[in-house]
Amino acid sequence: MSDCLFCKIIAGEVPSTKVYEDDSVYAFLDIAPQAPEHIVFVPKTHIGSANEITAENSAVVGKIFEAAAKVAKERGFAEKGYRIVNNCGEDGGQTVGHLHFHLLAGRNLQWPPG
Ligand code: 5GP
Ligand code: ZN
Repeated sequence: MSDCLFCKIIAGEVPSTKVYEDDSVYAFLDIAPQAPEHIVFVPKTHIGSANEITAENSAVVGKIFEAAAKVAKERGFAEKGYRIVNNCGEDGGQTVGHLHFHLLAGRNLQWPPG
């Protein structure tokens, strides 16, 4: 956990461009944006991946979706639309081992993803 990039970002040890923060959620601009708007939402407590969501820690997932809806309205793309994505594990394309949700917007997103 001490080696976790997103824990370091939350702690301010690695710089990030903050978009949103509350008691349990932190959100920042992705360093390699895949859409005109690409924001990463993370729980402030370390959860390794979606596989580690349990009855004890799942409330923060609702908080993240609440925060994402707020940010989408604030940044003006709520009506036009957006995508919230979680990549889990190797086949899911997860590269950072701290649960996170991508919020992508600002272009017509294709389906299915690659
Ligand atoms: P994953 O591939 O695990 O679903 O998503 C990890 C995301 O974190 C990627 O979109 C990647 O661009 C982003 N990322 C990796 N390192 C950094 C960093 O140091 N700063 C920021 N802002 N984003 C990062
Ligand atoms: Zn972490």
